[in-house]
Amino acid sequence: MKVLITGGAGFIGSAVVRLLINETDVAVINVDKLTYAGNLDSLHSIAGSAQYRFEHADICDRSRLAAIFERYDPDAVLHLAAESHVDRSIDGPDDFVRTNVFGTASLLQVALGRWRRMSAARQKKFRFLHVSTDEVYGDLGETTDPFRENSPYAPSSPYSATKAASDHLVRAWHRTYELPIVIAHCSNNYGPYQFPEKFIPHVILNAVARNDLPIYGDGEQVRDWLYVEDHARALWGLVTHGRVGDTYNIGGRNQQRNIDVARMICACLGRQLPNAGTAAEFESLIKFVADRPGHDRRYAIDAGKIERELGWKPQETFETGLVKTVRWYLANEPWWRRVLTGSYRLERIGFTEAAR
Ligand code: NAD
Repeated sequence: MKVLITGGAGFIGSAVVRLLINETDVAVINVDKLTYAGNLDSLHSIAGSAQYRFEHADICDRSRLAAIFERYDPDAVLHLAAESHVDRSIDGPDDFVRTNVFGTASLLQVALGRWRRMSAARQKKFRFLHVSTDEVYGDLGETTDPFRENSPYAPSSPYSATKAASDHLVRAWHRTYELPIVIAHCSNNYGPYQFPEKFIPHVILNAVARNDLPIYGDGEQVRDWLYVEDHARALWGLVTHGRVGDTYNIGGRNQQRNIDVARMICACLGRQLPNAGTAAEFESLIKFVADRPGHDRRYAIDAGKIERELGWKPQETFETGLVKTVRWYLANEPWWRRVLTGSYRLERIGFTEAAR
C-alpha cells in the first residue's frame, strides 16, 4: 500500500510518518512545502527507510501535485498540510485561506482525477482522509455537552474558519463526485516535536529558560488534550477502518484549564529538574497577559463514535503523556535549539537548493 501524506514534516504529520514507517510496511510519500512549521529534523529517525520518500511541494501547486500523484499512484491520502497556528491567523489570515482552502481544493481535484482512472477494485479501497479540528465547532459553554460529529459549525478564528471551509469542500467532493473521503476532528494535541510557539512546549521551554510564562486572560480556557501518538494511531485506524463519507471526532477525554496545565508542567519540571528549581519557583514565573481576540473558552470532544466503531482508545492519560512530553523536551535540546535559532530552516534552504 502507498500512502501520500501532506504536511508530514509538521508536528502531527511527522508522528503519522514515524508510526507508519516504524509499525507498518506501507510506503509513505511525504509532500510538504516546508513552511516555518515544517521540520525535517523531526523525521531524522526514519528518513533513511526504503519505505519513505520526500517531495518538497506546495499543495496549491496543482501541476506539481499531479506529477507526484502520477509518479507514486497512492492508494490513500492523509491530508494534514495546513497553516495551523491561531495567533498567526489573526495577524495574517491570507496564508490560511490559501493553504487551508485553496490548497485543499487543489489536492481534492488532483486526487479525484487520479481516482477516476483507477480500476473499480482500487477505487473502492481508495481513501482521502481529511484531518480537521474540533475548533470548527466553535466555543462551548461551561456545562454544554462535548462536541459530537453532528454539532453545528461555528468557527471563531480565521484558522478555524478556513478549516471549516476545507471540511465543506471535502464533503462536497464526496457527495458530488463520490470521492471516498473520511473527515477527522481532533482536539488539541501535545507531545514530542511540537513547534515551540504552541502552548505546552512554550511553557516548558520558557520555564527552563526562567522566562515569564504568559497565560492568556484568566487562564480558565478549557482544552481537551490528546497525546499526538494516540492521534496518529486514530488517523491510521480511520484510513483502514473508517466508514466512507463519515466524520469522526477524536479526543482524549482530558479537559484541562490552561492555568492547570501550566501548573502541572511546573510540577513535572520540579520533579524532573530538582536542581533547577521547585514547582513553586517555576510557578512564580506565570504571568497573565491580555487575552487574544475571539478566544474560545472551551473545547471538549465526545470521542464515543471512534471508540465504539474502531475500538480506538488513547494509550496515554494526560498525566502520563505530559510527563513523557516534558522528559522529551529536556532530553532533546538540540531539536528545539535548532528551531529557536532558526538553523533548522537555514540548513533546509541548502538542502532544497541542492535537491533542485
Ligand atoms: P503544523 O503547523 O505543525 O504542520 C503543518 C505542516 O504542513 C508543516 O510541515 C508545513 O510545512 C506543511 N504545509 C503548510 N502549508 C503547506 C502547503 N501549502 N503545501 C504543503 N505543505 C504545507 O500542524 P500540525 O499541528 O501538525 O497539524 C496538522 C493538521 O492537523 C492540520 O491540518 C491541523 O489543522 C490539524 N489539527 C491540529 C491540531 C493540533 O493540536 N496541532 C489539532 C487538531 C487538528
